[in-house]
Amino acid sequence: MNTNQIICPACGASDSESTKLKIKPSGRSETVYCKCHNCKSFFNPSSNNIIDEIGHTISTAWGGEETGKKLSFYKRLMYDSILNLLSIYSPPPASLMDVGCSYAGFITQADKRGYKVYGTDILPTAVDFSKSLGFDVIQASTVVDANFNSPVFDVITVLDANYYFNNQPLELKIILNKLAHNGILAMRVVDKSWFYSMGIFISKFLPRIGRRIAEKSVNDHLFSMPVSSLLKLLNQQDLKFYMLHPKVPCTVKTRLYL
Ligand SMILES: [Zn+2]
Repeated sequence: MNTNQIICPACGASDSESTKLKIKPSGRSETVYCKCHNCKSFFNPSSNNIIDEIGHTISTAWGGEETGKKLSFYKRLMYDSILNLLSIYSPPPASLMDVGCSYAGFITQADKRGYKVYGTDILPTAVDFSKSLGFDVIQASTVVDANFNSPVFDVITVLDANYYFNNQPLELKIILNKLAHNGILAMRVVDKSWFYSMGIFISKFLPRIGRRIAEKSVNDHLFSMPVSSLLKLLNQQDLKFYMLHPKVPCTVKTRLYL
């Protein structure tokens, strides 16, 4: 790996603007992660092998066929709460594409409500299962490959999936190009970059403890971006957005679910 070519997948800053720490993420080999000084994201700079990513995902609880199906079913209440919100602004029979649809948990609930659903996922087993349920799902590791008969969608959802994007601005740009006029992009994200920063700081004094904290914060994610940086990125795409937080009830019209 040529370290001179490392750039932040969120903002494009070079590796000279990042702090590096060798850690062992959950279920992955030991590797160097970078923390971008510009946008405060952390990322795995050597995460471009799709075959490895499929192999890793299958080994996880959400990627294994039986455990993945159970987890998708278990999450249905959370999916229903998202649909309760979405249906206010884009009710069925709107078209809906779920990026990273796993074992069809969200699109199953959306289909029950009358949405015309589509999905993508990196896992062939998950795609086969979704297809066996009659859903229009494509195997894809990037939205570039999400080519359905429907060129645009009324709703696109990215639920806990952007942690695996190799290029945030590119994926978001393509997603927005696939949104219908006045369409809705709904994202569910977790910001753990502050936790990772704490690990880096502590590693200067207590290397093993700092590294352990960093590993805990990363879990198996290839990437995490502060919500404030993600909102800046979405601003650059000229998107009107609102942020929701579990502790702050939202009373305004919502275009973006976070
Ligand atoms: Zn960055």
